[in-house]
Amino acid sequence: MLRFVDLIEKKAEGHALSEEEINEMISGYVHGEIPDYQMSSMMMAILQKGMNAEETTILTKAMMNSGDVVDLSDLPGIKLDKHSTGGVGDTTTLVVAPVVAACGGTVAKMSGRGLGHTGGTLDKLESIPGTSVEQTIERFKEIVRQNGVAVIGQTGNLVPADKKMYALRDVTATVRSIPLIASSIMSKKLASGADAIVLDVKTGTGAFMRTKEEAYELAHSMVDIGKLMNRKVRALVTDMNQPLGMAVGNALEVQEAVELLSGNIPESDPLYQVCMLLAVNMLVIGELADNEEEAEEMFRQAVKDGSGLARLQKMIELQGGDSSVLTSEGMKELIKVRKIIDVTAGKDGYVTSMNAEKIGTCAQMLGAGRAKKEDAIDPYTGLIMKVRCGTVIRKGDPLCTLYINDETYIEEVVSGMKDAVHISDEPAGINPMIYGIVK
Ligand code: URA
Ligand code: CA
Repeated sequence: MLRFVDLIEKKAEGHALSEEEINEMISGYVHGEIPDYQMSSMMMAILQKGMNAEETTILTKAMMNSGDVVDLSDLPGIKLDKHSTGGVGDTTTLVVAPVVAACGGTVAKMSGRGLGHTGGTLDKLESIPGTSVEQTIERFKEIVRQNGVAVIGQTGNLVPADKKMYALRDVTATVRSIPLIASSIMSKKLASGADAIVLDVKTGTGAFMRTKEEAYELAHSMVDIGKLMNRKVRALVTDMNQPLGMAVGNALEVQEAVELLSGNIPESDPLYQVCMLLAVNMLVIGELADNEEEAEEMFRQAVKDGSGLARLQKMIELQGGDSSVLTSEGMKELIKVRKIIDVTAGKDGYVTSMNAEKIGTCAQMLGAGRAKKEDAIDPYTGLIMKVRCGTVIRKGDPLCTLYINDETYIEEVVSGMKDAVHISDEPAGINPMIYGIVK
């Protein structure tokens, strides 16, 4: 008879847990046989002593099998997915998923909602009138069969172990453990049926992983899990020291995605660059392109000829939404707020750095995000950045434009945005948007 206290001690002394031990831990915890206080002690031991790649993979598998596992095997081709560890102005899914479908890929994607300073794809989609992100698995597959892409919320009982463990980690200071984060993310991706996954691990002021080193460690851990589970996984490490796109909000981010997919955003733009790199890696591991150069050309073409935008429009139509708003003109008409104001620079200088978390929080205070899970969102509010790191600015120039309906927190937002954008007398080195790829 296994005594869980002995397992905690084993991990606290730095030993690896066996497959049987990890399986019993997850099943015991999910079924209420292991109490929260013992599990929190175990997770603190994992945070301090770590887990090797094999243990982390066994943990991922045990968590994945704690609930439903979606079977997408009756859909054609390699089922592709992407996942971002969470950022501000990160609207890549709305660009990448339809473009990959336009290039012949199968993208059956389950996304999440925003919480705190980061946005969520489901909330962005729901800003398009009529769109439903709640679909049955059968309808979800039918849309993917017709259109190559659908994006919905999680259905059924996916990874109950993660729900319970995450809630406990949140209140026991055990969120920041690489094996616990890697298994949490990968168990959900694998349970939703993906064969091949491209991850975007964000690092910087707006991200979970504050340093590049931590971000690489998480990226390697998730790629290793993929290898040990015979899934193709690649992980980009990208910058979140400033918002990725210029728009931070729900309809505002859809608008930016539509502009990109309409060919109205230059290739040099950071959002374009990160979207292209994500799509390129999906096309290569999805065996739709022979190499990166060919995949880049496919991405450019799907933007230029409008086939990516057409997939997004069709997806929205099939999910019950009004696809006619998904044009430059349509989005301008859709986004109506009571008041639009600029926040301006207090002095001349160079924008040397930003606090992306604070910018996300300002958008949230305008109604674009939730502080608590139950909060409602105002889909048309948020902000559009007018500067990036490196911009030369004069006193009185706009830093950003605010889209406002409710003015409750307006003074905090204006001062928050002035604080979040750092202006210096001297120029400084600017972080690249893309650090590297772990394969
Ligand atoms: N995102 C997740 O899904 N899980 C974590 O543990 C951290 C970030
Ligand atoms: Ca065009």
